[in-house]
Amino acid sequence: MRLSRYFLPVLKETPAEAQIASHRLMLRAGMIKQASAGIYSWLPLGFKVLRKLENIVHEEQQRAGHIPMLMPTLQSAELWKESGRYDAYGPEMLRIRDRHDRDMLYGPTNEEMITDIFRSYVRSYKDLPLTLYHIQWKFRDEVRPRFGVMRGREFFMKDGYNFDLTKEDALHAYNRHLVSYLRTYERMGLQAIPMRADGGPIGGDYTHEFLVLAETGESEVFYDSEITDLTFGDRQIDYDDVAQCEAVLEEFTSRYARTDETHDEAVFAEVPEERRRTARGIEVGQIFYFGTKYSEAMGATVQGPDGKPVEVHMGSHGIGVSRLIGAIIEANHDDKGIIWPEGVTPFHVGIVNLKTGDAEADAACESLYKALEAKGLEPLYDDRDERAGGKFATMDLIGLPWRITVGPRGLKNGVVEVTSRRTGESEEMAPDAAIEKII
Ligand code: ATP
Ligand code: MG
Ligand code: MG
Ligand code: MG
Repeated sequence: MRLSRYFLPVLKETPAEAQIASHRLMLRAGMIKQASAGIYSWLPLGFKVLRKLENIVHEEQQRAGHIPMLMPTLQSAELWKESGRYDAYGPEMLRIRDRHDRDMLYGPTNEEMITDIFRSYVRSYKDLPLTLYHIQWKFRDEVRPRFGVMRGREFFMKDGYNFDLTKEDALHAYNRHLVSYLRTYERMGLQAIPMRADGGPIGGDYTHEFLVLAETGESEVFYDSEITDLTFGDRQIDYDDVAQCEAVLEEFTSRYARTDETHDEAVFAEVPEERRRTARGIEVGQIFYFGTKYSEAMGATVQGPDGKPVEVHMGSHGIGVSRLIGAIIEANHDDKGIIWPEGVTPFHVGIVNLKTGDAEADAACESLYKALEAKGLEPLYDDRDERAGGKFATMDLIGLPWRITVGPRGLKNGVVEVTSRRTGESEEMAPDAAIEKII
């Protein structure tokens, strides 16, 4: 992309309404624009990152054997009356009435709708196990939308639902989700720690929230510091292997790690004192096994091996895709701007032309641009006729991992400058070597 033809409305001033770094930087980098409280337009740069995260989530879900689909944002109230949640959900649900006076709502989640789809088509235990998911906009009328996309009212979420014949099978689905989530967050350059969460009115131990540690996080968390040494890495997982998935769950959840909702001082005290940590975290996902709650209320049964109807065991599993962008920036920025992890960066490399209009500099930039594209990378070429200082500031603000600086002086010596956004280190090299270096 050539910057002269792009739409990147960066702001010089720090917007007064933004209280935390990620919100400030997303506004300044021209990623989002508030449309109304907690509702945002995704400008091209923000939209690009959102799509990258969405793709990672799709890839990892499908790797785990989960099936993508798409349900609508607007739902009929009927299904929610059936499950009993229409009244229980409270003012967070945006209720709408259509021209025929029918009660509708903007979905805050999709348990009811997916259960209805399931019961309409699935008849036999032979069709199980089944996990369906979608990535779709949700609406929750949060009392205090704040921190930009971190607590929006309209937000983008992946939600998946498993249907299994037995509790045992459903727990395998739960474990599979835990494993796939660990991989997902790591690919985004994040450490998200599974923490024991509150089962709410449903109760039970089978729910974990994934938290990214950050001072600006809204949850208070308590954990054994050993847990931060764990990484998923590039281990190969067979998602059908029950024991293997269980072993990962065991490894990642056996140390103390809880949110304030489930925190227990007495149990925490058993962790050696020097390893006890109290911190704040951002909830970027949650997995849940809830048994037959919805299948019972909505009559989702299959014919079991003995011919008798069985209520299916279910779970639901969510990832806050739009919130993740805020979390990634909270964990990856400095006073100049964002520092994108390689896996989610909107462009791989920025090319700064120090003297637009200079024939040699223009030609060198053009050929770098083409060569990088030919390598399958996305360069962002600042070809505008602007001062170098302003170009550098924009590149630092939008945080691409690499910058290649091209100017007449360097070209005389046959070199360009390659700078790492994360370390700030620069190196001079021939243009070919620069192309080689950017991955
Ligand atoms: P929170 O405790 O932050 O209100 P939640 O527990 O109500 O979140 P879930 O129902 O577990 O949210 O939804 C799954 C994921 O969706 C959350 O883990 C979070 O990452 C994301 N999410 C929830 N509410 C919002 C919101 N208002 N804005 C952005 N993302 C959200
Ligand atoms: Mg909530
Ligand atoms: Mg929560
Ligand atoms: Mg939650």
